[in-house]
Amino acid sequence: MSNNLKKLNRNISNGMPKEIATTTKQETYYKCTHCGDEIFWNTHKKFTYCKCKKIWVDGCEDYVRVGGNEGDYKVITKINSGS
Ligand SMILES: [Zn+2]
Repeated sequence: MSNNLKKLNRNISNGMPKEIATTTKQETYYKCTHCGDEIFWNTHKKFTYCKCKKIWVDGCEDYVRVGGNEGDYKVITKINSGS
């Protein structure tokens, strides 16, 4: 009986820490397909245009708004593997 319990506990603790680490390190950028400018999602509530002003990003920890037409920008995610 006590053997069964030990097995269960080990399974639960195995899978968890890895998943949390990968999601927090992802960084989202919005890339203009016209001029190639990349804007980071968190602009601290500042309207930020790309070089050709086809798109803009306005974001903070609570929300992210992106301007421009469909196809004017691409959402890209980079994974911060350093530090
Ligand atoms: Zn642009």
